[in-house]
Amino acid sequence: MYATNTVNSHQRPAFEGTGATPGVHDISMSEVFSLSEFTQSVEVALGQLTEYLADDSIRGLALTEPKVLMTQAKRLMTDGIEDTDPVSREQKLKAILELYIKTGIQVHSPGYMGRQFSGVIPLAGVVDLVNSIVNQPSSFYEAGQLPNVVERLMAKELNQYIGYEHDNYAMVTTSGGSLANMTALLAARNKRYPGFWSQGSYAVDGPGRPAIAVNGESHYSITRAAGILGIGEMQVVRLPSDGQGRIDIAQVEPALAKAREDGLDVFAMVAAAGTTSMCAFDKLDALAEICQTRDIWLHVDGAHGGSLMLDESRKDKLKGIEQADSFVWDGHKMLFVPAMCTMLFYKDKANKNLAFSQNASYVFEKQEDMYTEFDSAQGNFECTKRPLIMNLWVCWAIYGKAIFERKVTRLCDLAVSAYEMLSNLDDFEVIHRPEANILCFRYMPDYLAKHDIADFQLMLRNETKAAGRFFISKVNIDGVTALRVVFMNHEITMTHFRMLLQELRQTGQQWLEYQNLQSNKVALLGS
Ligand SMILES: *Cc1c(COP(=O)(O)O)cnc(C)c1O
Repeated sequence: MYATNTVNSHQRPAFEGTGATPGVHDISMSEVFSLSEFTQSVEVALGQLTEYLADDSIRGLALTEPKVLMTQAKRLMTDGIEDTDPVSREQKLKAILELYIKTGIQVHSPGYMGRQFSGVIPLAGVVDLVNSIVNQPSSFYEAGQLPNVVERLMAKELNQYIGYEHDNYAMVTTSGGSLANMTALLAARNKRYPGFWSQGSYAVDGPGRPAIAVNGESHYSITRAAGILGIGEMQVVRLPSDGQGRIDIAQVEPALAKAREDGLDVFAMVAAAGTTSMCAFDKLDALAEICQTRDIWLHVDGAHGGSLMLDESRKDKLKGIEQADSFVWDGHKMLFVPAMCTMLFYKDKANKNLAFSQNASYVFEKQEDMYTEFDSAQGNFECTKRPLIMNLWVCWAIYGKAIFERKVTRLCDLAVSAYEMLSNLDDFEVIHRPEANILCFRYMPDYLAKHDIADFQLMLRNETKAAGRFFISKVNIDGVTALRVVFMNHEITMTHFRMLLQELRQTGQQWLEYQNLQSNKVALLGS
């Protein structure tokens, strides 16, 4: 052992040794890790970010061709000599950050109405810088003491809204809502089939094949989880919808009975709070009642809409949440912190360690002590894990909860105002009264023929996106494409929304002129 080490230290390349001369083109180790290098780069970043945040122009997305961007990026890579010169390094960093910022969706601009990640509370971004420098991977208490303690504090804060029994719930952070959905379903599966973890599907000796029943509009991570967990996509029962994106309560019992007849053993139900397309909220209290009588695990995917609990006038949409066995909530959606920050709650803390029923003696202690009791690794998939809770907790600690409550209310109110505006316009069709901050609609001018409706919406969305001022999304509703806006930014006002509608009208007009031109050409050719 000792001898091997000696040999290695002889063979170690010279540049790793302390007294060695670096190659002519190599920057020295001490320079890379120096304080001056750090402060200089922070200054560069600070300058760029300040400029970025100060930019209040209306803009969405400027899409660059990947090959062009690749060339630009490649040009910025180290090629030797010039990089020992700190001035040129600074310039290079500046150019890299410029390129990074310029090619992003401007999430804090009022033109950004397209996706569910938000313009971030700047302080949360500052915390992420600190997270990266102090590097405390937080699956284990000893590596991330404060993050692991804070998870409990934050869980308690948020449980004020959920209402789980005060000493019996548990929360674990995961890298995203998709992983949290999978983790919760894994816990549910292992609870119903205790041998599944070690024996695989051989452990299933009951009357039916393992199955889950879901809101038909549920996020794709649910069926993906079914694939991963050995349930199989074919065993995902899509519960009938009430036409508004919610599970039709009256049809749940019949659907479950039919599933049983078909040889399925539904062990978990996934309800939406809310759905990705329209942000519709399932009736959780009614579903909880059904699940309890049938011994079905109720999982609520509240990645986006869980935050509506912070809005006094809308918290009723999650009535019954305290009866859910598990509940996913993304901080990086409507709690306005950067990706990522996801929390998975369990009603019963005993279920937290069910998902990963594995023993790994080198990390998991058989006998917990007061430190290891705070390890989260048993309950989350990750081994090395970002200290996911920190960006949310620091903002919560410093600004208080009221700022989050106000922002959620503001964004949902904005969607209602937009809905009301559209309802009064003859050339627009509004699809639903929004329950949250997502609104779907279609532009339907007089000149539009019925068979063109879907393609026309798609064209509007793509042209608007390409124009770069407003970034909106599209969604398929009842088989027909619709436009979709997501209000994630409190700087958006009705003036901006009116501007968007004006832009849609103009784009439609241009399309019409182009169509007319084409048919005139055809007519001319024909004559
Ligand atoms: C965003 C979202 C997810 C996925 O969460 P990620 O954090 O993006 O992995 C799942 N379900 C719903 C309803 C969502 O809105």
